[in-house]
Amino acid sequence: MRRVLLVLIAAVMLIATAGWTYPPNKDIDTGHAAPPDIYWAIPSADVLIDAGHGGIDGGTHWGHILEKDINLAIARKLYLLLRSQGVRAVLNRTGDYALSDENRWHAARSRHRRDLSQRRGLSDEIDAALFVSIHVNWAARGGKGGPLVLHRNEGRSAILAAFVQDSLNRLQGRSRLPRGSAKLYLLNRVKAPSVIIETAFLNNTADREMLTSRRGQTRIAEAIASGIMAYRYFAP
Ligand SMILES: [Zn+2]
Repeated sequence: MRRVLLVLIAAVMLIATAGWTYPPNKDIDTGHAAPPDIYWAIPSADVLIDAGHGGIDGGTHWGHILEKDINLAIARKLYLLLRSQGVRAVLNRTGDYALSDENRWHAARSRHRRDLSQRRGLSDEIDAALFVSIHVNWAARGGKGGPLVLHRNEGRSAILAAFVQDSLNRLQGRSRLPRGSAKLYLLNRVKAPSVIIETAFLNNTADREMLTSRRGQTRIAEAIASGIMAYRYFAP
């Protein structure tokens, strides 16, 4: 009897670790292409990179230049940089689609709310050590430029923000301080140390040149990566 029980437990553990699920994924035979769900394969990560906006949500814009495309380009570069340094990074959006399209579990009417809850849901699901959301800024009054890192009002988030802000400041010749925010839904609901990185201003000419050039995007991604690496080295 005892042996049978042991075999049963072993079988259950084997099935669980093999990731066998029931009922099977309903998306398989719906006939239309589902967004890539690479994150389901990874139960934990060092850094969850959130490429801000996507799909019908373009974020801010300058003519035909859309924030969502810049965010995705920088997020992809950041992903590769972190991976190349042995950091287990996960990117929550690999193409141009809205995360609210994937969100079938939050009954909220507002697409924006569903989008945000999906982003937060992913960070719970993945159990990320850090949450980094990539965005582009826009100022109602011109003249503003440079990076701004927003963080959850909590110690580790503030330290992460300080490292990333400092790194981006040095790249862009600025001396701005990061800012805590109690208002942002995303930051308050994510449990891991979290920052929203406003990489630069789209309506600032010099910033825009950097944001829209390959070289500029690479340098921004490098600065963010070194900020994250510094945090990982120094923070408890
Ligand atoms: Zn944004």
